[in-house]
Amino acid sequence: MEKSGYISEIKEYTEINVNRCYQCGKCSAGCAIAGEMDYPPSMVMRMLQTNNEENYQSLLQSQSIWLCVSCQNCVTRCPMEIDIPRLMDYMREKAYREKKVNRKSSNILSFHKAFLDSVKHTGRLYEIGLVAGYKIRTLNILQDMDVAPSMFMKGKLPILPEMVKDKKQLTTIFKETEKDASSSHTQK
Ligand code: SF4
Ligand code: SF4
Repeated sequence: MEKSGYISEIKEYTEINVNRCYQCGKCSAGCAIAGEMDYPPSMVMRMLQTNNEENYQSLLQSQSIWLCVSCQNCVTRCPMEIDIPRLMDYMREKAYREKKVNRKSSNILSFHKAFLDSVKHTGRLYEIGLVAGYKIRTLNILQDMDVAPSMFMKGKLPILPEMVKDKKQLTTIFKETEKDASSSHTQK
């Protein structure tokens, strides 16, 4: 079996030691999404522990990493306090950079991008911008359009975005984050 350095790489970037997991299964039992995942959280942990590159590549190409909603249920149940959502986040980033995003998860990636665009430009979540960005990326123009009028009537869809006061600081945060992400990527 081919050995790889991904366990130490994960430790370096997330401070998580995957070998601390002792496979009690509490994370999978408490995860509301586990039934939809190709690999439930405890299996993700087991696959990582094998230190096998093939298993790692399967995880990077899995739907599990994109279906995780970072609800933290698994962390609160884990006797070893292993931060699985942080791990999922790390693998999402890696899968994205290495162009290994599962095709069935592309809509989720589009949602992430539309969400970040909204925050990047306004500093807040601008619902109409988010929905428009998502629909343009996925071409799902008519999806859920029937709920828009009632949301609008209830004031849940403001026409104009609310902006943060300090836009300069927002720009700096995004610039620094992008710089950190690309430097950690080139180190790998
Ligand atoms: S709850 Fe923690 S120790 Fe138990 S299987 Fe999940 S990650 Fe491993
Ligand atoms: S954070 Fe992710 S893996 Fe953990 S319980 Fe929530 S959805 Fe499941």
